[in-house]
Amino acid sequence: MSAPQPNSFRTGPDERGHFGIYGGRFVAETLMPLILELEQAYAAAKADAKFQAEMDGHLANYVGRPSPLYFAERLTEHLRKTASGLSAAGAKIYFKREELNHTGAHKVNNVLGQIMLALRMGKKRIIAETGAGMHGVATATLCAKFGLPCIVYMGAVDVERQKPNVLRMRMLGAEVRGVTSGSKTLKDAMNEALRDWVGNVADTFYCIGTVAGPHPYPAMVRDFQSIIGRETREQMQKAEGRLPDSLIACIGGGSNAMGLFHPFLDERSVEIYGVEAAGHGLASGKHAASIAGGRPGVLHGNRTYLLMDDDGQIEEAHSISAGLDYPGIGPEHAWLNDLGRVKFLSATDDEAVAAFQLCSKLEGIIPALEPAHALARVLDLAPTKPKDHLMVLNMSGRGDKDLDSVAAFLESKKK
Ligand SMILES: *Cc1c(COP(=O)(O)O)cnc(C)c1O
Repeated sequence: MSAPQPNSFRTGPDERGHFGIYGGRFVAETLMPLILELEQAYAAAKADAKFQAEMDGHLANYVGRPSPLYFAERLTEHLRKTASGLSAAGAKIYFKREELNHTGAHKVNNVLGQIMLALRMGKKRIIAETGAGMHGVATATLCAKFGLPCIVYMGAVDVERQKPNVLRMRMLGAEVRGVTSGSKTLKDAMNEALRDWVGNVADTFYCIGTVAGPHPYPAMVRDFQSIIGRETREQMQKAEGRLPDSLIACIGGGSNAMGLFHPFLDERSVEIYGVEAAGHGLASGKHAASIAGGRPGVLHGNRTYLLMDDDGQIEEAHSISAGLDYPGIGPEHAWLNDLGRVKFLSATDDEAVAAFQLCSKLEGIIPALEPAHALARVLDLAPTKPKDHLMVLNMSGRGDKDLDSVAAFLESKKK
């Protein structure tokens, strides 16, 4: 730990949106008034008990919260057997079951908050960008529920790759706009969404899907997702009478991870791990690990670790999991990495698929490929911990969407 440690890890960002040297708001002049309006509206909503109560009602009855904290007994036993020779070793593993939420992942927690804020601000048109389509589906879902028109920007390559989610969004009444500029993937869709926002400032709300973008988005999305960590604290207290000893979550942009981590950041006894996608391996250059393989730069309105080539051009991320395929990471994670508060690890496609299969067979839970990356690291972390160590994995989504990818991957390995 080289950097000086703050008194609290939970006070950020500062008033201009900085987490140390990360974050901020790098946006066009024309967007500045909107960003400030959003910041004020969010601050007011956050302080309004009525807004919170209304959101709690939708979280309970529409999303299906609280999500359970589940003791993964067979996985725990399995890993205790593999803790070779150390009969006392092997953490007790719990899953925070975000995959049981409506739409099958954690993204809905954040989208609900942002759509309710849009309604409060009188915005009548919702735009979003999506890579794999999961954030697009969550946004289209809540726009349908609240009767708002929804436009989703998606790289033309992703429209081809993610057909089922495109169909889902259209079924929910959203307009999917294929983006044909640049590499025709997520970063181009983000640029297009920002351009739309500049051109339609009066009536449009931009719904961002992870803890990225210009301030106040990273803090706002974190706040909406922090229900994951708050529930976990309470549920662990009930189950074991104390705090967990470690938390682990996968990192795309970092929203499910930040949601679990944030309420625990000042509990120094709690070890915290984020797991990036190492794709074909960090050395291959084909991965999505911004911390392990990137360096600080500016994208999507904030400064953070990014995958860049020698000229500073954003490089495309690679992962079997489309949801981890983001070339950056939220600025708060970048800061927590530099401070040493969160330890960042990575898992390859091979490791994630093996964990996906193991979890399905041992627990009867088919995980999304994203949390299967975090699970891959649980498989080697848990056996190194004592038996009374309580480890919580954020099961951020369910794997139905990934069955075709996994089947094709396993088929290609046979050849
Ligand atoms: C989108 C997605 C992720 C990655 O996004 P974060 O912002 O890093 O949470 C992880 N898991 C699932 C299931 C997703 O759909």
